[in-house]
Amino acid sequence: QERMECPPDSQILGRATWTFLHTMAAYYPDRPTANQQNMMRSLLNSFSHFYPCEWCASHMREEMKKEPPVVNSRWGLSQWMCQLHNKVNVIQGKDEFDCSKVDERWRDGPKDGSCD
Ligand code: FAD
Repeated sequence: QERMECPPDSQILGRATWTFLHTMAAYYPDRPTANQQNMMRSLLNSFSHFYPCEWCASHMREEMKKEPPVVNSRWGLSQWMCQLHNKVNVIQGKDEFDCSKVDERWRDGPKDGSCD
């Protein structure tokens, strides 16, 4: 019988969550309706209360107070998410990601077609 997988630690959870958040932003509408904008604001707000790493969630709530989510376009949300992730990267001593490349990373893949 196959061994049960272990519950995710904060690294595995973080990576999976960023995959979801950036991909969601990459496929958000270019021109969201007022209702869609309200739903996205509320999703991110709720998210920052329930993300199951309390330290990470409270940091996210602080950042969202300083820089409220940009929900009026796909590009705006993608850039906002990239900047949020970069703040965590800096705290972790990692390199910052070049936010002009979010679509290549999370939606289109590289121009050489290696991900097609
Ligand atoms: P990850 O940081 O998970 O990144 C995954 C991939 O995303 C990278 O390989 C890269 O291709 C791409 N990427 C990297 N930066 C960006 C960017 N700016 N924009 C777009 N794409 C990018 N960990 C802590 O130790 N302390 C915290 O306070 C903390 N807060 C977090 C808050 C949230 C909301 C989330 C979702 C996670 C948080 N984490 C935190 C976890 C941490 O961010 C990482 O997910 C974890 O350390 C695993 O890192 P990783 O090297 O696998 O790459």
